[in-house]
Amino acid sequence: MSRQKCIALIAHDEKKDDMAAFARQNEKVLAQAKIVATGTTGGRVLEACPGLDVTRLKSGPLGGDQQIGALIATGEVDLLIFFVDPLTPMPHDVDVKALMRLAIVYDIPMALNRATAEHLLDFAAV
Ligand code: PGA
Repeated sequence: MSRQKCIALIAHDEKKDDMAAFARQNEKVLAQAKIVATGTTGGRVLEACPGLDVTRLKSGPLGGDQQIGALIATGEVDLLIFFVDPLTPMPHDVDVKALMRLAIVYDIPMALNRATAEHLLDFAAV
């Protein structure tokens, strides 16, 4: 029997409504996985879908992105869904880049917008 998949969820502030809607729409699929999320994103996802198994890490600007990067480096994340806001400068831009870099280094499927995330969830059949 294969182990339960782990999906990492992150959304920048302007994308959090979108993440909550995405979680609601895909609740059944997400319920089969273990979710890790940055602090505020995890809170929004839990508000939208209280039944999900969500582990909330630190908020992104306070190290949450790096915590998810560390989980990728230790092989604990199977899929990264990161709704990025391309229109707002971020104080933790270097952390965002480092996280994406690790997802590439470890060849983790990574969705940076909702359209790709929908495809990945279908495809990953978690
Ligand atoms: P947050 O972090 O979910 O705690 O807002 C996301 C981010 O901005 O990286």
